[in-house]
Amino acid sequence: MNTGPRQLRCAVIGAGMAGILSAIKLAEAGFTDVTVYEKADRVGGTWRENTYPGLSCDVPSHLYSYSFALTPEWSRRFAPGPEIRAYFERIARENGVTQRVRFGDQVLGCVFSEGRWHLTTASGHRDQVDVVIAATGVLHHPNYPVIEGIDTFKGTMFHSSRWDDSVQIDGARIGIIGTGSTAVQMVSALANRVARLSLFQRTAQWIMPQENPAYSDEERTELREHPDLLSEGRQSLSDLFDLFSNAVVDSESAEIKMIERACLANLEDNVHDPDLRERLRPTYRAACKRLILSPDFYDAIQSPNADLVTDDIERIEPGGVRTTDGRLHELDVLVLATGFKADAFMRPMSLVGRNDFTLDEAWDPRPAAYLSISMPEFPNFFMVNGPNGPVGNFSLIEVAELQVRYILQLVERIRAGDCREVSATHEALAEFERAREQAAQHTVWVTGCRSWYLDDRGLPAVWPWSFVRFRQAMEVPDPAAFEFA
Ligand code: NAP
Repeated sequence: MNTGPRQLRCAVIGAGMAGILSAIKLAEAGFTDVTVYEKADRVGGTWRENTYPGLSCDVPSHLYSYSFALTPEWSRRFAPGPEIRAYFERIARENGVTQRVRFGDQVLGCVFSEGRWHLTTASGHRDQVDVVIAATGVLHHPNYPVIEGIDTFKGTMFHSSRWDDSVQIDGARIGIIGTGSTAVQMVSALANRVARLSLFQRTAQWIMPQENPAYSDEERTELREHPDLLSEGRQSLSDLFDLFSNAVVDSESAEIKMIERACLANLEDNVHDPDLRERLRPTYRAACKRLILSPDFYDAIQSPNADLVTDDIERIEPGGVRTTDGRLHELDVLVLATGFKADAFMRPMSLVGRNDFTLDEAWDPRPAAYLSISMPEFPNFFMVNGPNGPVGNFSLIEVAELQVRYILQLVERIRAGDCREVSATHEALAEFERAREQAAQHTVWVTGCRSWYLDDRGLPAVWPWSFVRFRQAMEVPDPAAFEFA
């Protein structure tokens, strides 16, 4: 029974890429009573937190832009991190989001009671809202390695996402633990600046030799004068990514084999010392871990002052890192490029849904949400880039735009008075998880490597189908999958 239209008050948690997007789309849909909660003092999410040298995005910038805010101004195919951060700050400012943000106030808890979400924040502020959109990010909480003696290091040590700008890098002896996208970007940026660079590699990576050309003034002028080219260009990049997305979910696909050949040729052609080449040769399938794009990592690691260390780390000592061959790698600075706790969605926020059902209970033994968006017993609470979503080398902006459009269709039902509460059913979530786990068995992510995609059972905690299928799933919510109360 329709109870008539309602004015809704909405909270968005997080002012990163997905939070800014949610606030813009809510405003566009006519929701005027919206607060964005942001624990930091600036918008930008991951692009605010990560400031390490060499930071960029591995999705081309003309694709890693909001579809409604394309820009001709990108400096390179893969723009540097500060430029991406400035983009999000500008879009937030120009679209009236910044003024809706409550900065420096972290949401600690959300409790559903009498049809509304009751929020409490770190400052003691309280709020009551009808709808919550959690846009708290995927790779957010640093994964600190457990290594004997790590606290005894006398130099400067920090996680890659806590880069310390005050530290003197030029001319220093720097160690980097890890060989993920972060470490690879750092190595390329630092090799020529430091006195000595020691890269502690536990697992070799496949490196796709992707060039990163700068756009010329003429190219930018052409894009300014012909904005259609921007959307056409974005579409063709998106089509290319669709191809890749089909490849990674089928471990036997021709595309995966092509990627593997290209990476192998890069290794064979560009690493000259046979011993170093063998130590850089991965022993698992390409794209099993997130594929790394780099035009110059192999050059950088072959610099005379760079050292690829493949002996295991035995312990960390005041003077540096001791490896199992007995060597002490003396260091001034040690960067832990050891990745993130990928299953820490929304933490440490506590969430209590209907009938005192908590998030800890819902996510025991691991995070799950219907289409990564909605959870049974947590009505009117939605996640953007939530658990088990499409993160395998897709543009998270495209993912988020599709999810927000889907979420707003559900919120519209509440506003229209069709229902007061909407959440996925237990059956829909169980069926989604069953199908997801089954499909995951055929992806390249389970072909024998360790990665942040894998959950505690070794199953990829990601969307295991093509991006085309994701787009279809995001078209219109299936009413049968939701409880409308
Ligand atoms: P990551 O891919 O999870 O890599 C972490 C690295 O640390 C791995 O090489 C891992 O080794 C190593 N490691 C972890 N614990 C260790 C320990 N105790 N001892 C020795 N080594 C240890 O993390 P990330 O590089 O920060 O990248 C995470 C994700 O962020 C990427 O996959 C990507 O999605 C995103 N990202 C993207 C970009 C980009 O757009 N280009 C840049 C940065 C990050 P093993 O491989 O042996 O586990």
